[in-house]
Amino acid sequence: MSGDITRIHTGVPQHLDERFAHRAAMMKPSEIRSLFAVASRPDIVSLAGGMPNLTAFPMEMMAGVVEKLLLENGQEALQYGSGQGHPKLRTQICDVMALEGIHAHPDDVIVTTGSQQALDLISRIFIDPGDVVLVEAPSYVGALGTFHQYEAQVVHVAMDNDGLIPQALREAITSTRAAGRKIKFLYLIPNYQNPAGVLLTAERRTEILEICRSEAIFVIEDNPYGLLGFERPSPNAMRAEDSENVIYLGTFSKTIAPGLRVGWALVPQSLKEKMVIASESSILCPSNFTQLAISSYLSDQPWRDQIASFAQLYKVRRDAMLESLEKYFPKGATWTKPEGGFYVWVTLPPEIDTKALMPKAIVGKVAYVPGTAFYADGFGSWSMRLSYCYPSPEKIREGVKALGGVLATEMQLRGLN
Ligand code: PMP
Repeated sequence: MSGDITRIHTGVPQHLDERFAHRAAMMKPSEIRSLFAVASRPDIVSLAGGMPNLTAFPMEMMAGVVEKLLLENGQEALQYGSGQGHPKLRTQICDVMALEGIHAHPDDVIVTTGSQQALDLISRIFIDPGDVVLVEAPSYVGALGTFHQYEAQVVHVAMDNDGLIPQALREAITSTRAAGRKIKFLYLIPNYQNPAGVLLTAERRTEILEICRSEAIFVIEDNPYGLLGFERPSPNAMRAEDSENVIYLGTFSKTIAPGLRVGWALVPQSLKEKMVIASESSILCPSNFTQLAISSYLSDQPWRDQIASFAQLYKVRRDAMLESLEKYFPKGATWTKPEGGFYVWVTLPPEIDTKALMPKAIVGKVAYVPGTAFYADGFGSWSMRLSYCYPSPEKIREGVKALGGVLATEMQLRGLN
């Protein structure tokens, strides 16, 4: 028996491919996933993964919340629940969103198993093979993977240090439509973007909303990092300005803990039923246990203070990374200066191929994610994402120093400095 299991897990015999559905061919491991095995070696400083840092999480307090929940309300917590999500938590989620200017009704909130599941549901509902999805250039690798599995054609729209460029969006819409293709939605991460770390300005938010409204294109606003601003609060959510044309995605993964797997979608009323039916067919209902644990945590604990201490922890790490980039990276490299979130995006001279450079970085005991992972079209080969969320400030300095050395040597080899 165990022999059979091993065989199933060690690879797919070729003839099985023929039995798969057509869409299974789209299921490929992400570039980041294959990196993780190497990046998680203890001798490597990983600036690759985007894992939230739980060292500041109050574990004992959460143990108390969970114990109390099971002792006082275990029958409900361990039972199946509503496909749309627990009503009490949906109400509390509206309070969380109010921090970013959103006035929402709990009826329009659908609780999901992380916002990743919401991305899957939206893709399932909207994308036919060949449909176009507009995304920032670069964009979140997990969303690109999902869109790819539903056979979307992903079109990247240029961004700069102020986020997605409205004029580039207009041009992308015109050229896509001129080519006879259907645009299903614009997917964007306005706050401390993954992977670029940039913040979309308030003016551009309004302009992008106007463009999408007038062109009848839904906006998917993915906002995992909005409450993790370092110096000042982020501008109001786009959904605060437009409740008809924006599908808003939120998650507790970065503000509480990712292992609980609780996120949500706030959708226009016309979409709610489809979302709930789609979600029920994949998971029946989100976990009552983790929803109620979060609900008790939000009612009884100082969750705003906890978010502030997470933000402080990430700010210290951001500072360590920016200081060491300044100190150790060679001339010719440029990078973004995030005001929140987890990531810095580095751009190098076009002669440097960050994917090909990875083995040398590993020898230097540091890992990052090559830029091509964040593009659907092979672009990005001379850029990389560095994350500062997880390692200690000392490790960040050590990693950036090592990577700076690897880059300087490579640039010298190519006569670039
Ligand atoms: N969107 C973005 C931009 C992310 O960075 C992540 C997590 N890395 C997710 C969605 C998914 O988060 P989760 O499923 O944990 O809510």
